[in-house]
Amino acid sequence: MSQTDSAEFIAGYPLKAHNTFGFDVRAQWACRIEREAQLMTAVRDPRAAGLPRLVLGGGSNVVLTGDFAGLVLLVALRGRRIVSEDADAVYVEAAAGEPWHEFVAWTLSQGLPGLENLALIPGTVGAAPIQNIGAYGLEMGERFASLRAVELATGEAVEFDARACAFGYRDSFFKREGRDRFVITSVTFRLPKAWEPRAGYADLARELAANGFEANGKQPDAQAIFDAVVAVRRKKLPDPLELGNAGSFFKNPVIDAGQFEALKSREPDVASYAQPDGRVKLAAGWLIDRCGWKGRAMGAAAVHERQALVLVNRGGASGAEVLALAQAIQRDVLARFGVELEAEPVCL
Ligand code: NAP
Repeated sequence: MSQTDSAEFIAGYPLKAHNTFGFDVRAQWACRIEREAQLMTAVRDPRAAGLPRLVLGGGSNVVLTGDFAGLVLLVALRGRRIVSEDADAVYVEAAAGEPWHEFVAWTLSQGLPGLENLALIPGTVGAAPIQNIGAYGLEMGERFASLRAVELATGEAVEFDARACAFGYRDSFFKREGRDRFVITSVTFRLPKAWEPRAGYADLARELAANGFEANGKQPDAQAIFDAVVAVRRKKLPDPLELGNAGSFFKNPVIDAGQFEALKSREPDVASYAQPDGRVKLAAGWLIDRCGWKGRAMGAAAVHERQALVLVNRGGASGAEVLALAQAIQRDVLARFGVELEAEPVCL
């Protein structure tokens, strides 16, 4: 084993700064991974034998309900570069520990549009494919080329293309079958040279119009969209550094057309978006708001005042408190609308 492959084991490691809810819990062991080779040294260490493992990047999509009796791998792999270019696209690669938003900003500074709708999403590049992050009409999977991941059982580095990642709505192979088996170490994006603004979402269109851009007039460039997304998100979504949260806590439910018609006859103003497959996407935030949960608290866990889809830690909340709040919301939404809300973060 070379000096650079060794991984330092830290006992009783505090995770408060490593989960965006800010839950004050500890890991039995933690290792900071700055080089890919340290991954295998860490998982093969006798102290980690038989223990559960948790991979943390920014900790922006996880609910830690208590101390973690296992090994936490803190992915701190850094680096980003333009890899290649063909007639249609430029390929850029970033290490898994790069902060997502800084990476998006960097692509624009290189004159490479394509990721601007995904500005200001908390978390790391390595976490982005796991739940196929999406916002304002763009999903990461649309800009994805490939990723590299290490299989912990074998130590082998494996290349995944989009098909192998099986991206879905806030979903991928790594959230299901691949969970706890692979650690993503870098991601390569394909940024098409033919670029068109995606500005259809109402909040974004309003912000752009306020900045002098019109649907049928002056067109925004990628930087203008980036700036508008940042402004809208800052107005509406709490900054995890100020108010602990994990972004949207629930996925938007998608229901079949028959169920939707029945629901609409009872709730004529239900917010809905028709899907290409004939089903209908409901806005989970609207359902939660309609049940009267917006701004309400249970202990120190609360529903954000400006966005009912976001659960927040008002200070000192535990993961269990947040889960109890989430379950109360799920019960009410099911009772009133007959719709099941599925949590988006991983609950441990
Ligand atoms: P919003 O604009 O209040 O809209 C509510 C929901 O309606 C969104 O979740 C969105 O679905 C859907 N929607 C709105 N306009 C739509 C359109 N033109 N076509 C299709 N669907 C539409 O949403 P928001 O909460 O402020 O969030 C804005 C965007 O950022 C959304 O895309 C949201 O998903 C994303 N976001 C994601 C997270 C996260 O943690 N995953 C956190 C905050 C925001 P979609 O979610 O399918 O886009």
